[in-house]
Amino acid sequence: MTRHEDAAAPGTPPLPKAEADRGADKPPWLRVRVSNASSLTDTHALMRRLGLNTVCEEAACPNLGDCWSRRHVTVMILGSVCTRRCAFCNVATGRPQPVDPNEPERLAQAAAELGLRHVVITSVDRDDLHDGGAQQFVACIEALRARAPAITVEVLTPDFRHKSGAAEAVAAARPDVFNHNLETVPRLYHDMRPGADYAHSLGLLAHVKQLDPAGFTKSGIMLGLGEERGEVLAVLDDLRRVDVDLLTIGQYLRPTPRHAAIARYLDPAEFSEYAEQARARGFPLVASSPLTRSSYHAEEDFGRLRAARDQAPNASSRPA
Ligand code: SF4
Repeated sequence: MTRHEDAAAPGTPPLPKAEADRGADKPPWLRVRVSNASSLTDTHALMRRLGLNTVCEEAACPNLGDCWSRRHVTVMILGSVCTRRCAFCNVATGRPQPVDPNEPERLAQAAAELGLRHVVITSVDRDDLHDGGAQQFVACIEALRARAPAITVEVLTPDFRHKSGAAEAVAAARPDVFNHNLETVPRLYHDMRPGADYAHSLGLLAHVKQLDPAGFTKSGIMLGLGEERGEVLAVLDDLRRVDVDLLTIGQYLRPTPRHAAIARYLDPAEFSEYAEQARARGFPLVASSPLTRSSYHAEEDFGRLRAARDQAPNASSRPA
């Protein structure tokens, strides 16, 4: 899978054990307060009732208490078992479940019950499927729009490596935001993303932008895995070169001792400095902080991006 929401805190409902549970040495800016708001419990109950997986839980996201108390969730489609084994990711690896044809409708039901106006959909990697799961993304987008035509949809996809036509199929469904995370610098791909290829992932983002220039593209990286500053800046250059609109940068947190070790915790000021570097390169929108995750405040970021484009001279926005 291709996301970096990770490391959580305990609370109501029960959450996966993660770095936050044991993180006495964790810097104060990463210690999250867990809300006990009833909406958090309600959100958990809704996901179970509708049989939906969330990346918030599966990846043990530190922002779960905050997001869920605001009834924001990111649904992880195509099962809870991934065909890849990324060194930073908490999602189970193994033989995946069959594709559930009713999942898109249940996702739309959840979005309606939660009152979501902007939905983020992600998935496990499905290298076992001929289309990498692309058609299920399409079905989910269509189900959401059939129920709520004004809804906006953001997809956070796998890399669809060796899946001819998959990216094209998802792009043709015209998600409002197409996100694919680079996750880390190319030098660390072999150890961190053994099934992936940096050039391919970058190429996917470039291709999607060519397929749908009026749609927004988005990508993100984690810091603290051992990358060097120059390598990070080179990734920013690469992403800007392929016209990515929205960049997210967050701190890697180790989900369990079996996962890649944290090389270091970056100070919040370093995240701010990377944000400045990214803005100087021309990214229309940048979210960079220790707790930034791909889907954290995704609706607000999308709104800002759209507003900025609408105000720009020669704006070429999509029809609503
Ligand atoms: S940041 Fe994303 S993955 Fe984490 S809790 Fe919020 S919506 Fe879920």
